[in-house]
Amino acid sequence: MASGTRPLSDLRGLRGEPCPRRAAFLDRDGVLTRVILRDGLPGSARHPEEVVLLPGVPDAVARLRDLGLLVIVVTNQPDLARGTLTPEALAVIHGRLRAALPLDDLAVCPHDDADGCACRKPRPGMLLEAAARWDIDLAASFLVGDRDKDIEAGRRAGCTTILLPASYSGAVRADYGAADLAEAAEIMARLMRAGAPEHAPRGEQA
Ligand SMILES: [Mg+2]
Ligand SMILES: [Zn+2]
Repeated sequence: MASGTRPLSDLRGLRGEPCPRRAAFLDRDGVLTRVILRDGLPGSARHPEEVVLLPGVPDAVARLRDLGLLVIVVTNQPDLARGTLTPEALAVIHGRLRAALPLDDLAVCPHDDADGCACRKPRPGMLLEAAARWDIDLAASFLVGDRDKDIEAGRRAGCTTILLPASYSGAVRADYGAADLAEAAEIMARLMRAGAPEHAPRGEQA
């Protein structure tokens, strides 16, 4: 264990038995990056220059990794299906995001509601797929989002959910609430220190 930053994953296989990892699933817009409001509705960057990291995010992501969590972004990008975002622009945006933040994985749903896919939040497909790929214990993992769709996806996947409330969050009750990703990381650290992942009684927000 050279760096000591990934104890859970490094233990995997030492005794010939699986050691599932824990993850922090992070929504992108409004959690990592500034939301772009269009007509009062939250939207996503369509050009790389529109992407701005929120304050404190690099330190918060580093904190999550220090906790031994995989950091996995799960983002709906329906502008791809709608033709208002090109795959090339998204590739540049996500290249910059990966350069700025030490992400383990970044999952994108490129669909819109009419596509009926399994990955568009509130469906949990992106989390389930990442769990299979990375051997993640979903019940011991966390989801952080700023909308009802995020929280619902996390809940359906069996994760502990943390809402960063915003004007557009919708009617939703998460396990916990936090002002920003740094505070959400504090909550995750506290829960991990306490031992087993504790789901707060539904509706009780920290
Ligand atoms: Mg969001
Ligand atoms: Zn999808």
